[in-house]
Amino acid sequence: MNAMTWFITGASSGLGAALANAALGVGHHVVVTARDNARLRTLADAHPDAVLPLSMDLSRPHEIEAAVAAAEAWGGGIDVLVNNAAVGYLAAVEEGEDQKIRTLFETNVFGVAKTIRSALPGMRARGRGAIINITSMNGVVAMPALGYYSASKFALEGLTEALSQEVAPLGIKVMSVEPGGFRTGIVERNLRSPKIDAYGATAHAIIDLLVNDKEGALAPGDPDRMAKILVRLATSGDTPQRLSLGADSWTAIMAKLDAQRAEYEAWKDVSHSTYFE
Ligand code: NAP
Repeated sequence: MNAMTWFITGASSGLGAALANAALGVGHHVVVTARDNARLRTLADAHPDAVLPLSMDLSRPHEIEAAVAAAEAWGGGIDVLVNNAAVGYLAAVEEGEDQKIRTLFETNVFGVAKTIRSALPGMRARGRGAIINITSMNGVVAMPALGYYSASKFALEGLTEALSQEVAPLGIKVMSVEPGGFRTGIVERNLRSPKIDAYGATAHAIIDLLVNDKEGALAPGDPDRMAKILVRLATSGDTPQRLSLGADSWTAIMAKLDAQRAEYEAWKDVSHSTYFE
């Protein structure tokens, strides 16, 4: 196997850190990013020749351009770009605050799109590459309290679906990964907002479930297992356009698809009644 160069955003914790370790474990080289690369120091010190730790804030486009340029100059170019960094937001839609909604979209959507646009010229020039966008089961299935997070991940799903069709003829493969609950502590880092009592039975009930999940029952996924699967798939080049990871994700997505299809079927006559007669 030839060593590949990975570019993994948000590698200071959780899935990104697990992915970096899994890629290093099979001999790949990794460019890892976090807002402050001091948080990547331990990993870089352990693998001085195989890790390039970079500071990159997804809300700062010039930092994204600089990080991708540094990565391209470091190895033979980025083979696998993993857009993993993201932030969550637990709030009913009415509770949303402008600045937090903007932070969420700057990070989860605009920053990811900028990273993709920065990496594509190099991949196109080489005629090969892979882009893995970590979305979520909530990129397919929305629920109370996760409206803004889902909106950002639905956006990334749409971007990924279009992009995969645009770049397939150029030799570049694109995949959405839709994890269910994985034990990374992400819930503690989610943005929060003041509550409005009216959402006690809906959004707040779900926030309470997530925040009080001390045993990790809602996060049964093992980040290391997920990381090894992604490294194996990317290394083999055999990747689907979307991949649900975790039985919780798969079950929720299948239920959504079934319900969505049934509803479209039930309203078919109305849907087909709009053309000029
Ligand atoms: P995590 O441990 O909180 O990791 C998030 C990473 O994103 C951190 O490394 C953080 O690094 C980075 N980050 C946050 N804001 C950033 C910004 N503005 N610019 C650059 N980097 C930023 O969460 P995780 O659970 O591993 O999540 C990884 C991915 O999986 C995310 O896309 C998440 O939405 C998705 N996901 C997770 C789960 C789950 O249950 N864990 C489920 C579905 C989907 P710094 O703070 O050091 O900058």
